[in-house]
Amino acid sequence: MTEAPPSESRFSLPDDMRQAIIAHARRDAPRECCGIIAGRAGLPVRLHPTTNIAEGNALYEIDPAELIDLEFHTMPAQETELVAIYHSHPVSPAVPSATDIALAFWPDAVYIICSLADSEQPVVRGFHIRDGAVSEVDLTS
Ligand SMILES: [Zn+2]
Repeated sequence: MTEAPPSESRFSLPDDMRQAIIAHARRDAPRECCGIIAGRAGLPVRLHPTTNIAEGNALYEIDPAELIDLEFHTMPAQETELVAIYHSHPVSPAVPSATDIALAFWPDAVYIICSLADSEQPVVRGFHIRDGAVSEVDLTS
């Protein structure tokens, strides 16, 4: 590999994945949706919608069985690894909630949030969450 690694403050999100996240968010509203993006070398390859097992409409928790299957079967078989985690905020802005920050266990992943607060114009933003610190990641297509 002679290419420089992708900048930490940028993440290339293909438009079809962006649209898939928005569609998933709309499908699951008023509940939050969630899923992961598998990739290689920090670049997205495939989007995997997952089941949100959290109760209520203001939390998400990826079904652990699905996550294990992805981590130990699907992604290794496709030679990918987890590069991003997405979820939706049906009525709040596209910024990490206190719970999102407290439960962010993947320091290398990009946390993508899709807000439907303005249902006509969904907002999709990306963040790194490390040790309670949030920094924005530019999502480029
Ligand atoms: Zn959230």
